[in-house]
Amino acid sequence: MLTVLNSEKATSPNLWPEIEAASSTSMRGTDMQMVEADVESVEARLVAGEIACPGCGGELRPWGHASWRTLRDHGRPVRLRPRRSRCRGCLVTHVLLPVLVLLRRVDLAAVIVAALVARHVERRSRREVTRTVGVPWDTVRGWLRRFEERAVEIRGEFAALAYRWDGELGPIEPRATAALDALEAMGLAASAAVRRFGPTPLWALVAGASGGRLLSNTSSLIPASG
Ligand SMILES: [Zn+2]
Repeated sequence: MLTVLNSEKATSPNLWPEIEAASSTSMRGTDMQMVEADVESVEARLVAGEIACPGCGGELRPWGHASWRTLRDHGRPVRLRPRRSRCRGCLVTHVLLPVLVLLRRVDLAAVIVAALVARHVERRSRREVTRTVGVPWDTVRGWLRRFEERAVEIRGEFAALAYRWDGELGPIEPRATAALDALEAMGLAASAAVRRFGPTPLWALVAGASGGRLLSNTSSLIPASG
């Protein structure tokens, strides 16, 4: 029996409405809504009608579950079964995707972000990165390439969040590469979020605020899933 991912308490409750607001633009028109990793908290908010429909802003309510997915945590298989919801307003169903994952990626968000940091910030070798994250280099290279393609856009999004959460943040100095600029902005947004809202891991903030699309083509819609 594989480990089931369902009970991690990853984000501060006060941060969550901010993350939903940040991700709502990228989630609009999709059948997804990003939610925190804490299943109990999601359930309570879902039953209370506190999770908003990304399509119309109406209240999402419980609507069964999506199918089980097998994901990878440092190369080790883990299972996840996302909750499904339906909007009271527009009656559209939405899968509630926890910030543990990025859209269309088998490896957990924490693993992917760790690989980006290890390669770009810590300047680790290919061998060290693959050993750390437990994923073949070809897979890591795909993440790195996608991240570099989106780096300018990512930097803009996370710099805006950093300034939103910390009104006294000074100018963000440019780094050597666009990827480093993007990682710097992600880190500043995460540390601003921690100061303002309380403990939150970088990967959870990144997955949530990007609407799960850190490494996705933002112009393409997400196919129906589960
Ligand atoms: Zn709706």
